[in-house]
Amino acid sequence: MADSAKNFDPIEALASMRHEFGEHGGVNMSIEASTTFTVMQASTMPDIFQGRAGPEGGCFLYGRHFNPTVYVLGKQLAALEGTEAGYCAASGMAAIAAVAMQLTGPGDHVVCSDTVYGGTWALFKDFLPKKSGLEVTFVNTADPEAVRAAMTPRTKMVYTEVLANPTLRVAPLDRLADVAHAGGAQLVVDNTFTPLMVTPARHGADVVVHSLTKYINGASDIIAGAICGTKTFVQSLMDLHEGALMLLGPTMDPKTAHNISLRLPHLGLRVREHSHRGRVFAERLHELGLRVMYPGLREHPGRADFDRIRNPDYGYGGIFTLDLGDIRKANELMELLQNRDRFGYMAVSLGYFDTLMTASATTTSSEVPAEIQAQAGLTGGLVRMSMGYTGSVEQRWKQLRDALEILNLA
Ligand code: PLP
Repeated sequence: MADSAKNFDPIEALASMRHEFGEHGGVNMSIEASTTFTVMQASTMPDIFQGRAGPEGGCFLYGRHFNPTVYVLGKQLAALEGTEAGYCAASGMAAIAAVAMQLTGPGDHVVCSDTVYGGTWALFKDFLPKKSGLEVTFVNTADPEAVRAAMTPRTKMVYTEVLANPTLRVAPLDRLADVAHAGGAQLVVDNTFTPLMVTPARHGADVVVHSLTKYINGASDIIAGAICGTKTFVQSLMDLHEGALMLLGPTMDPKTAHNISLRLPHLGLRVREHSHRGRVFAERLHELGLRVMYPGLREHPGRADFDRIRNPDYGYGGIFTLDLGDIRKANELMELLQNRDRFGYMAVSLGYFDTLMTASATTTSSEVPAEIQAQAGLTGGLVRMSMGYTGSVEQRWKQLRDALEILNLA
């Protein structure tokens, strides 16, 4: 697996795709704004309803099923993720929920990482167990043996983020895939924090989900999600009788798909710059003796795992955490950084062109109980920083350095 990962460049895969021109020869594809589609022969209709004709053959039915513009974005994302197929959803949570409901049923069991985005945690801890009788065990997915021990004959799915939100613990995807498959389960991976950096399907992941709201979109202006996997799996999500995306209906608007598609060509440039700045800032803060977590630091416990699964050219990402010990100090630092210099903003989310800062324990991970936060190393004073790339590195570093000095933190 490691060798095939070395040979894969997501940006080359995207550039190898057939380019869709606009209806009148535009360099950009057109937006297909219709919700319903006609056919030349009436007999094609039953063919579409019974699955004998579909988007591959240019046959579309209704926008909640497949829309041509959304379909193209799905194919572009599949190319980036090295999967056979992909389709989009209205949000990252819609993508995660649809995958979970498609792969599991009442009485089934899921092994889920004990450190995931708070909404994902609530979905697996409360919503799905209460609504669909799913049983979920939460474990540290950095430890494949803990996953193996938690699996039962009813385990259908192992779920993890590549880098845990917000602790940045690394999931060794290749080993997790072996464990999941040996137990007859599928490995589902959230790659929101690590687009291009890691290609989970090259390491055995069966399904890859994204919140496109973050890096892939890049401007914090659109909520969107995606699911990448085999053709069979993506078709199953769109099935007219049993497809979670088709029947629950978290449909992406074609204008949104078009908009996101225009941002993919510069995703590689953006990710490299986020990663460059993430690494420079994490290293400098570490040198100052501060408690920093960043997968690119030599001291990071998951560095070797990350090096084994990462694609060579995209770095270690733009997110690091800074543990200031208590929430008061964390709040003081964030307020100073935002209100004095506009170094960044106190806001949830990540992957924006400016820096976003949040004290995760009381915000994006507030759904996770305090004792579980403590086990995962998520303290009240932990600030998650998603490094932006506006301004120059030295200008931003001076702003951060000054703020730390003013508050006697370094
Ligand atoms: N996955 C991760 C890792 C996230 O951080 C988030 C949101 O912050 C989501 C999924 C959910 O995405 P969305 O807000 O697009 O529903």
